[in-house]
Amino acid sequence: MIDDKKEHKRRLDNARTLRYRRRHPERMKKFAKERWQRHGVKESVKASKHMAKYRKNNKEKIKQWEKVNEDRIKQWHKDAERKRKFMVMEKYGGTCIACGCSELAILTIDHINDDGAIDRRRVKATKQRFYSFLMRNPRRSDLQVLCHNCQWKKRIYGPNISEWPNKRREAEKAIEELKKQLATVPSKPGQSRLPSGFSVRFWNGRE
Ligand SMILES: [Zn+2]
Repeated sequence: MIDDKKEHKRRLDNARTLRYRRRHPERMKKFAKERWQRHGVKESVKASKHMAKYRKNNKEKIKQWEKVNEDRIKQWHKDAERKRKFMVMEKYGGTCIACGCSELAILTIDHINDDGAIDRRRVKATKQRFYSFLMRNPRRSDLQVLCHNCQWKKRIYGPNISEWPNKRREAEKAIEELKKQLATVPSKPGQSRLPSGFSVRFWNGRE
C-alpha cells in the first residue's frame, strides 16, 4: 500500500515536471545555459568517461542494441551528414555561384584552383571529415560553392564563369556542324554513319 502511494506520488511528480518543461521552453533553455556555464566542461568530461566505461563493460549488449536499431542509427548518421553539409554550405554562401541553385543535395564545395585532392590529403579527410573540418575552421578564400552541373561545366568550359555562355555557343556550333556532316552521309543498315576521313578508334583497335 505504501509502495503504491509512493509510486503514485512519483508519477504525479514526473507528470508535473514534464508539464512544466513543456510549458516553459525558454526557461528550460535558460537553465540549461546556466548549468553549462557553471560546470559544462567538467560535466561533459565526466559523461564521456562514463560512456567509455559503459561501452567497455557492455560490448555484447551494445552490439545487440545496434543490430535491433540499425535503421534508426543509419537515419541519425544521415541527419548528421545533412546538418554538417548545410552548415558548411551556409558558411560559404548557400547557393551555386554560377547558376544560383540552392538545392542542398547537389551543392558541392569547389576548390577554385582545383587543388582539392592535395587539400583533402593534407587534412586526411574523407568527404564527411572534410565538411566537419571546414565547419570548425574559419571561412577560406580558396573555396566556393558550385552545384554538380556547374562543376562539370567548369571542368569543360574552364574556371572563368563569365566565359561559359560563349563556350557553350561554340560547342553548340561545333555540334551543328557535326550534324550537317553526318546528314550528307547516306546511312545503310548496320553501317557507321561517320563521314569518310572521320574515324573513331576504339580501345580494342576496331574502327
Ligand atoms: Zn550551378
